[in-house]
Amino acid sequence: MALIVQKYGGTSVGSPERIKNVARRVAKFKAQGHDLVVVVSAMSGETNRLIALAKEIQANPDPRELDVVISTGEQVTIGLLSMALKELGVDARSYTGAQVKVLTDSTFTKARIQSIDDDNMRADLAVGRVVIVAGFQGVDAEGNITTLGRGGSDTSGVALAAALKADECQIYTDVDGVYTTDPRVVPEARKLKTITFEEMLEMASLGSKVLQIRSVEFAGKYNVKLRVLSSFQEEGEGTLITFEEDSNMEKPVVSGIAFNRDEARINVIGVPDKPGIAYQILGPVADANIDVDMIIQNVGQDGTTDFSFTVPKNDLTRTVKVLEGVQAHVGALNISGDDKICKVSIVGVGMRSHVGVASTMFRTLAEEGINIQMISTSEIKISVIVDEKYLELAVRVLHKAFGLDRE
Ligand code: ASP
Ligand code: MG
Repeated sequence: MALIVQKYGGTSVGSPERIKNVARRVAKFKAQGHDLVVVVSAMSGETNRLIALAKEIQANPDPRELDVVISTGEQVTIGLLSMALKELGVDARSYTGAQVKVLTDSTFTKARIQSIDDDNMRADLAVGRVVIVAGFQGVDAEGNITTLGRGGSDTSGVALAAALKADECQIYTDVDGVYTTDPRVVPEARKLKTITFEEMLEMASLGSKVLQIRSVEFAGKYNVKLRVLSSFQEEGEGTLITFEEDSNMEKPVVSGIAFNRDEARINVIGVPDKPGIAYQILGPVADANIDVDMIIQNVGQDGTTDFSFTVPKNDLTRTVKVLEGVQAHVGALNISGDDKICKVSIVGVGMRSHVGVASTMFRTLAEEGINIQMISTSEIKISVIVDEKYLELAVRVLHKAFGLDRE
């Protein structure tokens, strides 16, 4: 008998029929003798609908009130799931974040969890009840409703598992695990049996949308045993997120390929090569709350240098405007933006102990005539920026080059 936290995403609870399915699955685990805490998202599309509704009233919705509105999606699903369980004869009780209580800071729309009170949940579990908790939401010290950022139910699930010291946190979604890459791009993509936390973190931050990145950070920090599974399959082990130290298995050099179509590149040409330039360029960008990803500065020649970086596509126009505002002050010759780019990354802890990974990547792209515009690396990943039209080709040839299509 184990204490299991299960989290079901929006598609898994997207209709009354699907909610009943979730209830059946929960009831099955319960019948096996496990203690269950179930975290749910809003029904699919619901959070988007609520945000759109708010924007019809206020173009830039007041953050406190926006959280009041968008937290309601999850309140609906906890009640419905609890009813569905009662229909099956299983005792269950629903809780909003505030009722639990999931205490957060007061950063509305992207609050961080500070602590979780497990008294109510423990008391219910002790009398054999299934506990159902609204994901994505909490309450601050003043009693204001907060939300944890889009996809935040994953983080709710992992945080509850950490607080309860659960034996396992199961994230049920519409895919049956973590894949070597997106199967819609590469049909040969394989489901991974295991992936390390670090790899998962990289994959999540590089654009793989399986788990909210903060949930992975949380699981890594609190040693939560995390598994991703499909809510549409009866059987299946999904993908287990492991700690590298725990496995002495030989790991593949590259475990996965992530990509991101959401970035745009900015070039700042002909800036004086002197101290303070990076700060003069990126300071105003940061002040405008624009997230900068890859940054490249060339070695200067004749006293000037070029500077490039990437930002979210949505922020391209704004970034160019910000830079045009400081162009004279920085002394740049030219500022331009390109949103027809994408980022392709290979990820694997095995890179630490293998040489030649980068050259395999670059050779593979060269053989297809794909020009690399920018490169960045970390210990366990290599990312390149290439022309957007090559995204699918690049991912496909790299997937093959690193043997990811083979078991
Ligand atoms: N319902 C929220 C969202 O759509 C939280 C979640 O699904 O994880 O972002
Ligand atoms: Mg989600």
